[in-house]
Amino acid sequence: MNYQDMHPESLMMSLGYKPALSEGSVKCPIFQTSTFVFDKAEYGKAFFEMAYGLREAETDEEMGLIYSRLNNPNLQILEERLAVWDGAEAAATFISGMAAISTVFLECLKPGDLLVYSTPLYGGTDHFITEYLPSIGVEIMSFKPGQEFSELTKMISSSGLGSKLKMIYIETPANPTNALIDIEACRKVADAFSEDVVLAVDNTYMGPLWQHPLKHGADLSVYSATKYIGGHSDLIAGAVCGSNDLINRLKAQRTFLGNMLSPFTAWLMLRSLETLKIRMEQAARNAEQVYRFLANHEKVAKVYYLGNITETDPSYAIYKKQYTSPGAMISFDIKGGEKEAFTFLNNLKMVKLAVSLGGTESLAEHPKSMTHSSIPADLAKEMQITDSLVRISIGIEHYDDIIRDISQALDAVDL
Ligand SMILES: *Cc1c(COP(=O)(O)O)cnc(C)c1O
Repeated sequence: MNYQDMHPESLMMSLGYKPALSEGSVKCPIFQTSTFVFDKAEYGKAFFEMAYGLREAETDEEMGLIYSRLNNPNLQILEERLAVWDGAEAAATFISGMAAISTVFLECLKPGDLLVYSTPLYGGTDHFITEYLPSIGVEIMSFKPGQEFSELTKMISSSGLGSKLKMIYIETPANPTNALIDIEACRKVADAFSEDVVLAVDNTYMGPLWQHPLKHGADLSVYSATKYIGGHSDLIAGAVCGSNDLINRLKAQRTFLGNMLSPFTAWLMLRSLETLKIRMEQAARNAEQVYRFLANHEKVAKVYYLGNITETDPSYAIYKKQYTSPGAMISFDIKGGEKEAFTFLNNLKMVKLAVSLGGTESLAEHPKSMTHSSIPADLAKEMQITDSLVRISIGIEHYDDIIRDISQALDAVDL
């Protein structure tokens, strides 16, 4: 059988690993080592020449292992497998999602360049863009979901910075209200200024299974692998998928920032990738059942879930084009305010009260006072992040148990 003809879930147990090189071990061992022995000094010299780009590799010449900040088998196998899900040429892994995101910015933006980004973004990303990038002379400009292609193009042109545009960075769906952004339209905006503009999409919420940004014209698909990819709430990691050219640039930058993933965490993620598809699919099936329960509940005012976008909604076309599932994240406004939301959270028994998402267990939190507490009040209001909003990451427990828990916690709320 040819690897090219196989489905991603079949490749997760084999691609990139040769048992014969590891005493026949069925599973890839943890290469918990800082450095690698060279057979001969000549090989060490050749590997460094290739690693530092001092010369091109000869045909058939393979890069050897040097030192775990530059390369390590656990990372290499993991990256080869991760790229498969996004249909990408290559992937790079990092010690956290924020390490991946900040490395993308540091590699692609220089003083004087313009970055255009969508709001709301993950809080850490927003902080890096608004607090750090301007301090090194990067110009920044934000836009909101729903702003049309022509409006965005006009906004960039009229700023006089169009010729400086180097990157568009977006997050879709936006957290926690699931607002959608059209990736193809962003590609058109980028191309209206220059072909070299890098379009990067934070694909943490719906990837790598249900949204494939590269297929819609993005250059980079960026992840907090802490979430669905890791999937067990037991590690912190980040990843980026894209072309060989861009990923090699990110890996070169990573070598000098030293923020590569550790071999042990890479090994944990290799294990996680074997069950990625069944985990995400079960979580999505559960979410659909939880949505049905919430949609009809007398103490619930409004539910945010991609599965309830109707055909009359302007984002319906984007939803149909970009997503293959409504996903497993649900937010809802409880009737009342913070007090009612807290009563609900404090009364959950199985669902855990914690931030983060995409793990095997269901997690619930209060965006306004937790994950999104740094957003100024007027902006939070505009983004519909209210006192009564609760966010739930649906896990892979039996949906009857999740619903029973949510139901009894809602019962504890007095209206
Ligand atoms: C969690 C998260 C991040 C940050 O990732 P870390 O792994 O915590 O560094 C970035 N983007 C999104 C959408 C996230 O949910």
